[in-house]
Amino acid sequence: MSDPKQTKVVLDESQMPTHWYNIVADLPTPPPPHLHPGTQQPLQPDDLAPLFPPALIEQEVTTERWIEIPAEVHDIYRLWRPSPFYRAHRLEKALGTTARIYYKYEGASPVGSHKTNSAVAQAYFNKVAGRTRLTTETGAGQWGSALAFATQIFGQSCDIWQVRSSYEGKPYRHYLMETFGASVVASPSELTEAGRALREQFPDTTGSLGMAISEAVEAAAKDPNASYSLGSVLNHVALHQTVIGQEALLQLKLFGEGPADYLFACAGGGSNLAGIAFPFLRENLEGRAETTIVACEPKAAPSLTEGEYKYDFGDTAHLTPLLKMYSLGPDFVPAAVHAGGLRYHGMSPLVSHCYHEGLLQATAIKQLDAFEAGVIFSRAEGIVPASESNHAIAGAIRQARLATEAGESPVIVIGVSGSGQLDLPAYAEFLSGGMADS
Ligand SMILES: *Cc1c(COP(=O)(O)O)cnc(C)c1O
Repeated sequence: MSDPKQTKVVLDESQMPTHWYNIVADLPTPPPPHLHPGTQQPLQPDDLAPLFPPALIEQEVTTERWIEIPAEVHDIYRLWRPSPFYRAHRLEKALGTTARIYYKYEGASPVGSHKTNSAVAQAYFNKVAGRTRLTTETGAGQWGSALAFATQIFGQSCDIWQVRSSYEGKPYRHYLMETFGASVVASPSELTEAGRALREQFPDTTGSLGMAISEAVEAAAKDPNASYSLGSVLNHVALHQTVIGQEALLQLKLFGEGPADYLFACAGGGSNLAGIAFPFLRENLEGRAETTIVACEPKAAPSLTEGEYKYDFGDTAHLTPLLKMYSLGPDFVPAAVHAGGLRYHGMSPLVSHCYHEGLLQATAIKQLDAFEAGVIFSRAEGIVPASESNHAIAGAIRQARLATEAGESPVIVIGVSGSGQLDLPAYAEFLSGGMADS
């Protein structure tokens, strides 16, 4: 592309990826298997059958490099994919940087984040397996709204346990889920044994993702027509998100750029990071690039930078398989920072494995730094990023400033995982000076 003012590359629908990319096929060492919580032995596909449909279990363990995206899912992706990819000319100018900054924007999806990429796939494979009801947890509500949207397309019912602090503090999100037809309750709730036990033990708790997962898992396990659905962390979720990185690689090339020097993405459970980064990591592994990939996590839930790499449960009631991951422990209840999607205690086993092998780097960002970056970005680019995405932007801005000081012009790519239109109360709190520096 020869126009130096070119600002975005919007691909044609015919250029949308036809397959999901499975990093496991290309990793130098195999990632550790998930373990059965009772026997501590590698999980057998049948162990997951009460919770997940066969296709998703297969995707959880497969070593195939490419998994074809079913036509029905591909057709629904057309509603928002391919997603746009921008050169951040105005952000570069605002920073006075010598770096060339690009960003991939997932906020134009129906619910304003990358989460629909997996929600539609999960609802579809559950439908194929005859599951008519899905249960899930949600923190800030992005995953819940994505699954609420996806299930109504396939005529399934959807029951969502939302972390109480978010349910009460961010009511717009449950209005959105309810608009799509889902039932939403605050967790811990009275509807499950796990919820009742947690309420008795911690009467004042504001909830956590670990607690909400326990409730949703229990509800699915007790209903033969139901499946549980997880919005991040697991291998099949990371897999579905790889449409992001495949598109971004092509879009960067269409801008006339060579390989990226840096890639920044925020990391909660790790799915948007995996989604954008794994196709770039493949370029590294095959010797075509040397991109430094940086996971940006919140200082309030620093699983990669301060957690321990060990087998751990995904939930508070210890109902999930044991996952080898960087974890702060399933009882960890983080400070009530605004980036609700980043408050999870663990990290995707695939992302954890890559980090452990030195294929990725990580940095922890404080909430005030994240929002400062988000406001600079909003004013320059006109897009108000999700609270979570602000962490990636803060990491990238820091790198751009270092490059400017060194007189270098690296290509920096940012994964902007979502829109912040429903996070505006957090922005208002930041602008008024009332935000805690957690
Ligand atoms: C859920 C969410 C995240 C965090 O989840 P990951 O699985 O780490 O991607 C980040 N950004 C947005 C906008 C989200 O909705």
